[in-house]
Amino acid sequence: MRMDGLKMNACCPLCQVVPESNDNITFSRCPVNINVYYSTRALATASPREDMHLCSCPNCSFIYNASFNPSLIHFNEAFCSTQSASPSFIQDRQYLIQSVLSFVENPGTILEVGCGDGYFLSEFTSAAKCKGIGYDPSCPDNISLPANIQIHRSFYTPDNASPDDIDILLCSMVLEHQPDPVSFLQSITKALKPSCCIVIEVPNIQKSISTNRFHDFYYDHCNYFSPETFHFCLHRSGLEILKCWEAFDENNLVALCRKSPTTFQNTTMAPKTPPMFEKLSHSYQLYLEEKSTQLNHALSKGPVTFWGASAKCQTVLNTFNLSYQQIPFVLDNNPQLWGKFMVGTGNQVCAPAQLASAPYPKTIFLTNDTYITEITRQLTTIGISNRPLVF
Ligand SMILES: [Zn+2]
Repeated sequence: MRMDGLKMNACCPLCQVVPESNDNITFSRCPVNINVYYSTRALATASPREDMHLCSCPNCSFIYNASFNPSLIHFNEAFCSTQSASPSFIQDRQYLIQSVLSFVENPGTILEVGCGDGYFLSEFTSAAKCKGIGYDPSCPDNISLPANIQIHRSFYTPDNASPDDIDILLCSMVLEHQPDPVSFLQSITKALKPSCCIVIEVPNIQKSISTNRFHDFYYDHCNYFSPETFHFCLHRSGLEILKCWEAFDENNLVALCRKSPTTFQNTTMAPKTPPMFEKLSHSYQLYLEEKSTQLNHALSKGPVTFWGASAKCQTVLNTFNLSYQQIPFVLDNNPQLWGKFMVGTGNQVCAPAQLASAPYPKTIFLTNDTYITEITRQLTTIGISNRPLVF
C-alpha cells in the first residue's frame, strides 16, 4: 500500500538509509497505549488510536513503524507488562540468570534500565547475592522490594548512576520502544567499564512471522528485530556479542555483550536477507481473513473469552473490534490487573477463578502457544474441561 501525503520517518532507524519507496503495511486504528490498563471502561474506550505503517528497509531489512510518534506514548503506573505469573516465564528467567552468571563472577551491582515492577532485578540480585539499581517510570509505588534493591521511578540517563560500579547492565524489552535504537544503546553503555556484561533482550520478529502472529505488531513497538538485524544493531552500537540466543520458546532474542574495543563505522555489514516484505503484506491479508472466520465461528457457538490480557490479546481485540458486549471479560493470572479495563475495547480483566460463576465459555483463546501447557493444567485444576485454542 502507498501512503502518499502522510508524514513518514525519512530514514531507517537502524542504518539511516532513506527508502526510495513508501511501500508499507497499514495497521488501522491501533491503540497507542498498549499494556496500559484502565480503572474505568469510559477511560479505556476513549484511549487514543493511530494508524501504524510498517516498513522494511531496502538496505538492512529492518522492520519498523515509520509513522511512530514517541510523544503519544505514556509510561506511567497504569502500564504493566509483567509475565511473572507464568511458570514457563519464571523458568526462562532462571536460565537467563545462570547464563549471565557463567560470564560474570561475583558481581557487585546490577543496573536494570526499564525494570518494570522489579521482578527480574529481584530474582537476579538474589541469585547473584549482590546489589541492584533499577529505573522505570512505570514501577508501581505499592510493591515491596528487598533491601538490596533500589528502584527509581524515572527514565535512566548515564548521569543518574555511578557506571564504574556496574558489573551487569540489564535492558530487557526496552529497545523495541526506542525511535533511535543505536543512539539509545550508545547512551546507556557509554560510561560503563569495559568488563561490564551488557544483557539486551528484544521480541523476536522471526517467530511472529513464521507463526503468522500479526498480533505481535503494536504501535508502541517502533522496532522489530530479527536475529540478523539484532546483531547488526548491537554492532552498530559499539557492542561485541559474547553469546546470543532465541529465548522463551523463541519469542525473544537475548544477547550478552561487552563494549567493543573497535568502533563500528560503515554500513557494509548490513544483513542481506531475502526480500520478504511483499510476502509479509500478503500474509497479513490472509491473517485478517482466517482469524475473522475463526472468531465468527467461535462466537456463533456460544460465549468466547481470552486467557492472558497481554499486548497480544489487546491487539486481537482491537484489530477485530471485539467489544465488551461480545467478550465481557478476559482472564489473567496477574492480580494487579483484576477489575481493570482493556485499552480500546473496554473488556474487563478477571481472575481465572471467576470462570466458575461466569457464563460458561464455549471457547477460550490464547494468543501465544507458549503458555498452552500451563493454562491447560490450570483449567483442569479449576474444573473446566474445554481445552484452550491458540488464536
Ligand atoms: Zn536499514
